[in-house]
Amino acid sequence: METTNDRADAPTREYRRAVTSRWNDRDRRNRDHDFYSHFVTTRTNFSTIVLGLGGIGSGAAYWLSRRQGDDVLGIEQFPLGHLRGGSEDHSRIIRLSYHTPHYVELAKQAYAAWEQVEVESGEPVVLRTGGLDLAPAGGAIPLADYTDALTRSAVAYEKLDASEVMRRWPQWRLPDHVEAIYQEKTGLAMASRANDTHRALARSNGATLVDNEPVVSIRESGSEVEVVTETASYRCASLVICGGAWTNRSLAHLGVSLPLDVTLEHVVYTIPDMALDFHPTRFPVWIWMDEPCFYGFPIFGEPAVKTAWDRCGWVTDPDTRSFEPDAETVARIRRFAAEHLPGSDRGVHLAKNCLYTLTPDRDFILDRVPGTEHVFMAVGAGHAFKFASVIGRLLSELAIDGTASFDLSGFEADRAILTEPDPVRSYMV
Ligand SMILES: Cc1cc2nc3c(=O)[nH]c(=O)nc-3n(C[C@H](O)[C@H](O)[C@H](O)COP(=O)(O)OP(=O)(O)OC[C@H]3O[C@@H](n4cnc5c(N)ncnc54)[C@H](O)[C@@H]3O)c2cc1C
Repeated sequence: METTNDRADAPTREYRRAVTSRWNDRDRRNRDHDFYSHFVTTRTNFSTIVLGLGGIGSGAAYWLSRRQGDDVLGIEQFPLGHLRGGSEDHSRIIRLSYHTPHYVELAKQAYAAWEQVEVESGEPVVLRTGGLDLAPAGGAIPLADYTDALTRSAVAYEKLDASEVMRRWPQWRLPDHVEAIYQEKTGLAMASRANDTHRALARSNGATLVDNEPVVSIRESGSEVEVVTETASYRCASLVICGGAWTNRSLAHLGVSLPLDVTLEHVVYTIPDMALDFHPTRFPVWIWMDEPCFYGFPIFGEPAVKTAWDRCGWVTDPDTRSFEPDAETVARIRRFAAEHLPGSDRGVHLAKNCLYTLTPDRDFILDRVPGTEHVFMAVGAGHAFKFASVIGRLLSELAIDGTASFDLSGFEADRAILTEPDPVRSYMV
């Protein structure tokens, strides 16, 4: 859906057409992937294979390649950088502000992992904007969990009332009962650029990355794992599954099925009245801590402000899902913006959807696949982009050393809730 607004259309029409056609071209190329054969290899034995080269798999390929060089193979079913999964857009929120000290500590390591990527590549992949967590009184997400976790992890933050938020960022219209915390390290991870950077670094370390090659069979036999694609058969000492929305398809080859919900989530880019008001130096990343939960970004990557609704989506199938934005969902997101960020929306620049892969408790899975010796996996539960590099590092440790340097308790693949026949879903974190 391309929603237009005549008033807003005129000054930006040229640029919008260029940007939109760039995305459309990339998308069309991805959907017609049979016509494009990209990267292949004739080598068949590797120390580690990474299945899936989205956000997390690209991170894993990079961190593995730092230790195993050309003994790493990454396999992607679509063209690299495709738009069918969960990791491609200009921006994802990165923040220390989380509801438990465990996540805050992991987030500290996430920043360190991205810094390593920036140093090694010379490419910036994180932009610090500062971040607001905005909590209406009695909202569904308790702000106290966040302030407690930050305090216990010795992370500085400011507590602000609604009038102070509006004094510092006059873009906001907030009722008196809204409280906020501001954390200065919050910002955005430049998702597509970071994925490209991970893959470029992995290749420069010697890793082989192939695409347009769906994995169709996985078999563990003795100390080896056999990974068969539509065109080749490979062997490795360890396999890392980073399959996103297709995770259960891969796990089925190993006799495992997990209660994962794949949902279709929407983001909307709108044209602001005054672009400068939403420049990253003037407008922080934000999250509305309630049900429904909205979040948003300053202008970045598109000439427009990005606003989204966390967990607005309905369960879908990654192979048959729609790419068409849902008009009602887009309208609901815009109503929030009209109420609280009145200068942010003179018309829609771009609306699109993307996939979450949710666990019932919304915690990650980062573990050995149950019943296997040499197969590991990660599931991002709809909030893992900020962690894509550090999760890649932890997966590399699991695959090579058998243990990780960070406490992964709570992220087990066989934790109680993942073994229940009909687990209760609680997605608000
Ligand atoms: C709209 C939206 C907003 C989000 N916002 C944030 C945010 O602000 N902050 C944040 O931290 N996170 C955010 N997330 C979540 C985050 O982006 C995801 O958790 C993360 O990117 C998932 O990465 P992934 O590698 O697991 O999945 P994907 O990127 O989908 O990668 C999985 C890959 O595996 C490949 N694959 C699967 N099966 C096979 C096979 N059999 N053979 C070969 N290849 C295969 C797929 O083609 C795909 O490329 C958001 C997600 C969405 C959709």
